[in-house]
Amino acid sequence: MIEAIPFTREVVLIGGGHTHALFLRRWRMSPVPGARLTVINPGPAAPYTGMLPGYVAGHYQRRELDIDLVKLARFAGARIIFGRADGIDRDLKRVRISGRPDIAYDIASIDVGITSNLSEVKGFSEYGIAAKPLEAFASRWTEFLAKPAPGPAVIIGGGVGGVELALAMHHAQRTRQVDVTIVESDRMLVRLAPRARSALMRELTAAGIVVLEGRSLVEVSPTSVQLDNGTELAAELTVSAAGARPYDWLSGTGLHLTDGYLTVDEELRSITDPSIYAVGDCAYNEHAPRPKAGVFAVRAAPILAANISADLTGGRRRKFRPQKHYLKLISLGSRRAIAEKFGGALSGDWVWHWKDWIDRRFMDRLGNLPKMPPQRVPQNAAIGVNELLAARPLCGGCGSKVSEQILEDALDGVTATERGDVITSVGDDGAVLKVGNTHQVITTDHLRAFWPDPYVMTRIAALHAMGDIWAMSAAPQALLAQFTLPRMSEQLQNAWLDECLAAAEAVALETGAALVGGHTSVGAELTIGFTVTGLLPNDISFASGAQVGDALVLTRPIGSGTLLAAEMSGDADGREIFTLLEEMSKSQSEVAALLASDANALTDVTGFGLAGHAARLADSAGLTAEIQLEKVPFYPGAERLSGLGVRSSLYQANLAAHTIELPDNPAADLLFDPQTAGGLLAAIPSDKIERLLGKLPSGAAKIGQIVPKGTNPIAVL
Ligand SMILES: Cc1cc2nc3c(=O)[nH]c(=O)nc-3n(C[C@H](O)[C@H](O)[C@H](O)COP(=O)(O)OP(=O)(O)OC[C@H]3O[C@@H](n4cnc5c(N)ncnc54)[C@H](O)[C@@H]3O)c2cc1C
Repeated sequence: MIEAIPFTREVVLIGGGHTHALFLRRWRMSPVPGARLTVINPGPAAPYTGMLPGYVAGHYQRRELDIDLVKLARFAGARIIFGRADGIDRDLKRVRISGRPDIAYDIASIDVGITSNLSEVKGFSEYGIAAKPLEAFASRWTEFLAKPAPGPAVIIGGGVGGVELALAMHHAQRTRQVDVTIVESDRMLVRLAPRARSALMRELTAAGIVVLEGRSLVEVSPTSVQLDNGTELAAELTVSAAGARPYDWLSGTGLHLTDGYLTVDEELRSITDPSIYAVGDCAYNEHAPRPKAGVFAVRAAPILAANISADLTGGRRRKFRPQKHYLKLISLGSRRAIAEKFGGALSGDWVWHWKDWIDRRFMDRLGNLPKMPPQRVPQNAAIGVNELLAARPLCGGCGSKVSEQILEDALDGVTATERGDVITSVGDDGAVLKVGNTHQVITTDHLRAFWPDPYVMTRIAALHAMGDIWAMSAAPQALLAQFTLPRMSEQLQNAWLDECLAAAEAVALETGAALVGGHTSVGAELTIGFTVTGLLPNDISFASGAQVGDALVLTRPIGSGTLLAAEMSGDADGREIFTLLEEMSKSQSEVAALLASDANALTDVTGFGLAGHAARLADSAGLTAEIQLEKVPFYPGAERLSGLGVRSSLYQANLAAHTIELPDNPAADLLFDPQTAGGLLAAIPSDKIERLLGKLPSGAAKIGQIVPKGTNPIAVL
């Protein structure tokens, strides 16, 4: 047996800025075996600000600006943590992230960019908006654009970014006469060579954009801004592009700062702590200070990759020598731009097309990733190996479960031991045990990791295992965890287990169960499971089963198996995976309690897919579940991927278990998609359905009804 190389070192990238995005791409090409890579970023994508003015002007769609970090992380074999670092404990070598346990590192690198938030200005946090981060700005800009008659806009900051934004806004509003004003505390465009500066000032004048130099902002209200000389300007949109401002939390790290930026040496390492690198706008290169521009973040990527690899392997580090002069391509609102270098300036349509080509090529490099080669099969492999591997790689989560048919065949041969205190029989997902006057439910489930983050995987696995307890209308009582960790150093085992246990504890707390123990082992891959017990009320009367006329309610969208299969092959959209993980990480405790009091029958939707579980629910009552396809909720992206032919490993077996007529569309195929941490499916008496739906979360839907038995236990309309 060929063993995977054990992990011995943790590399943590804080922030998904340009350098780190390029680092991830490089890591795939030359990884350091034995080093585990983690990237921390608040969301699944990092914005490419170079295209922001083009987006505001209407030349690009919002999505075109996103660097998909989920895809890049998968490509690099790294884990991505969605969170915001807010400190570093350098003694313990841990990165702090609010809302989850600290992340251990041997080497960390910081690439968090800067903020143009003017939180010290009265009213700015409530009514103003910074150009970065992009998400908040983009939604405020969309709202502003949607107004039938938008009022004036004020931009704070007369650097290149502010001027580009002002011209872009003017262009976007060119048919509507929106007033745009730039407020600059110093002189406009001070860092720009005179020729380019004059050309840009002429553009501003021609566009009718008002420029106020030597003036600072003192207050923002919903409809105006007040300046330091008492002037009040009407402003329906106040945007800050006011240059560089480092994040405050960096000052708590104890690392040396220059004007708030992390001071680094020629090798990009903090001058205080050689195990911490800093790159991009948040860093100050002591040996060669440069303006804050994406070009330097991009140029730092190969040096950072080489130096971290050198630290991990004992090699020699390289020096970062940023160029003194660099080409600035400044967009002018319409499809024109100015190019500036060595003091000269050229402008025209062709400059814009050149900039557009450079920007798109950069985004393409990070978005259009080479396909992962299929697994290499030894020539002397046994018959059948090629056929098995020709299918997609084995999914994680419920996608890797043994098929319904194989399981049923195997269970057919099992003789149940009759006991008076065991109420259910072999084959049920959970068993009901009589303990004195109490009925206890016990169930177990485990998941092959589909997401390389032990914390998120543990949370989802625990909630997934709870599904059977909730489906039996029981209250969670105790949790036992089974963790199989891949082989790694003892130091790393400690850190991984800390994360797993923190997640298990959190779920226990939220669901009212006690985490009582478990079992750990080291194995081929991360696998997490839970055995859960629950208590049924003393006056238990088991749900009598579905009745004709009951409404079928599903509490959560389907399509997780398809999305996870696509994520594994690098075909998923990171934003869709982010939404999926968020939903899967939610407890269904309250939803289960609501259903339990009304349902005639209840189950959870897992490995056999919605079709399989609906069929079982109806069949056990000798009836048919009629599913109205257009009412079934799907995770964003699931239908698109299904249409592209993406399937989970278990899909084919799930489909083969039924002989029903299906509409010929991708949505129908998703009925057989195995679900991990899937929703609850309930048969609800028709007189209770409307009241219940009003209380369920927005993702829940009435997806059909129970009808008299037809030729099949399910029918799809
Ligand atoms: C309007 C405008 C136009 C511009 N145009 C150009 C241009 O044409 N060319 C050019 O070279 N430069 C341009 N710039 C400058 C350029 O945007 C920056 O220099 C560049 O983005 C810097 O990249 P970075 O790697 O430092 O980080 P960023 O691109 O800022 O990315 C930082 C990432 O870190 C994340 N992050 C933030 N805080 C945390 C945290 N606490 N924990 C974890 N993650 C965190 C952020 O969400 C983000 O994903 C422009 C700037 C503006 C405002």
